[in-house]
Amino acid sequence: MAQALKTGAEAAGRSSRQKQQAGAGGPKVLDPKSNRCGAKLRRPKPKDQRPKTKDQPMSAWETIIGLEIHAQLSTESKIFCGCSTRFGDEPNSNTCPVCLGLPGALPVLNRRAVELGARAALALGLHINHQSIFARKNYFYPDLPKGYQISQYDQPFSANGTLEIMTAERDEAGHPIEWRPKTVRITRLHLEEDAGKNVHEGLPHVDRYSYIDLNRAGVPLAEIVTEPDFRSSWEAYDYVNHVRRSLQWVGASEADMEKGNLRCEANVSVRRKGDQTFGTKVELKNLNSVRFMQRAIEFEVKRHIEILESGGKLRQETRLWDDRALETRMMRSKEEAHDYRYFPEPDLPPLIVSPTFVDQIRKSMPELPEQRRTRFIEQHALSFADASQLVSEKSLADYFEKVVERSGNARAAANWIRSELLREFEAAGVSADASPIPPEELAALIKLIDDEKISGKQGKDVLVEMFKSGKAADVIVAEQGLVQLSDTSEIDALIDQVIEANPEPLASYRDGKEALFGFFVGQVIKASKGKANPKIVNERLRAKL
Ligand SMILES: [Zn+2]
Repeated sequence: MAQALKTGAEAAGRSSRQKQQAGAGGPKVLDPKSNRCGAKLRRPKPKDQRPKTKDQPMSAWETIIGLEIHAQLSTESKIFCGCSTRFGDEPNSNTCPVCLGLPGALPVLNRRAVELGARAALALGLHINHQSIFARKNYFYPDLPKGYQISQYDQPFSANGTLEIMTAERDEAGHPIEWRPKTVRITRLHLEEDAGKNVHEGLPHVDRYSYIDLNRAGVPLAEIVTEPDFRSSWEAYDYVNHVRRSLQWVGASEADMEKGNLRCEANVSVRRKGDQTFGTKVELKNLNSVRFMQRAIEFEVKRHIEILESGGKLRQETRLWDDRALETRMMRSKEEAHDYRYFPEPDLPPLIVSPTFVDQIRKSMPELPEQRRTRFIEQHALSFADASQLVSEKSLADYFEKVVERSGNARAAANWIRSELLREFEAAGVSADASPIPPEELAALIKLIDDEKISGKQGKDVLVEMFKSGKAADVIVAEQGLVQLSDTSEIDALIDQVIEANPEPLASYRDGKEALFGFFVGQVIKASKGKANPKIVNERLRAKL
């Protein structure tokens, strides 16, 4: 089984478009199993509950978006057998009779997949059902040796969630304008197995053969389906980022779109404002990043409105995003609904989840990002924007708290992390848990400044050096002979120089242009090469001017 299995490309009748799905872990293109059962199961939506936003691309129209996310749960082994889920192994090396779909092999549910599914469900505000049923979703595809996928249908693992996210419309450059809360209804989160992967690139004779890698067959997924609650592409964008972070935060999934362990699809339609019925919906696939998803939705909304305004008619279809051409293209028409002939999986008993199990999971969950943000705002008097950025990743929030604990200065900790440290992290491509500056060392640097041993400006240079060399703050300060200049006579001498060199600003200042005071402070600090203690400079300048 070390070699990839071959199937004739001709026999499979592939078009060039279908070949796109070859990239490692990329979302599937010709992929009937992604025709969600969720769509059929959605309950009717109470229309008056739907929030309205003003920010429509064209004001007479309203955009309606529903999202489906597939997240790979971070188990070591597959959902129904003991094979490894490791990414990047030799094709077909992680397979056994169960995930190869050999006759007579029996699936056994992986307890860890249920635990992680429960963590994901709780993190997204879903109710976990006492009983859920695995069901066979029948269809033929070369990467699905059993001829069916084990999923869940009318009795899913969890359902009926409401999730509050923060969202913002963006300006032309994509910068958020104003953040506001939005409630999203999550229809369900169910557990299922992934299929294998067809490979059409990077192997010999790909012009004549398609390859099948079944390492991914049987990897556990959580499928998360929302109600059509989004009214703009940016709301959808903020939601996917929220879900991604939540899943990472509770350890349910790595949720890395590049590795393909988080994939999303969007159902998009438009209708005239005030209409009660939904317009014709299009399903978007091949969305390889959250930003591409946002752009694909934007493109579709425009296309719908143009067609409708010119008197045309939309077709229900599945479209693919082409991230080179920056447009969507039709993949297939969906005029007939697929019939997967779902029926309960006879080889697996109903999944019973006890209240005790749910309680245990709940107790083992970390404080969620939103709770932590609220606590940061209350406990450390941080602004909403500061706190939001600090909880953007769990490792960063943990880092911040350690710095606060050691330095006793939350304001400074937040400022140093947000302005200086994040820039270094970004440049070096590391996250807080791999920081070359441990939190206790950033705390030590903050203390050196708070104790007026070095100036804030010197501190910035020390931080860069700490990041580069991994040395402690006090070692760098000693090595470079950095001391803050607090000697009043030396500062007075600098002030005299600055005053003498700037007769015009001085005259204006004395004429009442108070704002020039800051200019003089800056000049004195500059003259001291950043060493002068700003507090003393301020005091002495006031006296002298
Ligand atoms: Zn297996």
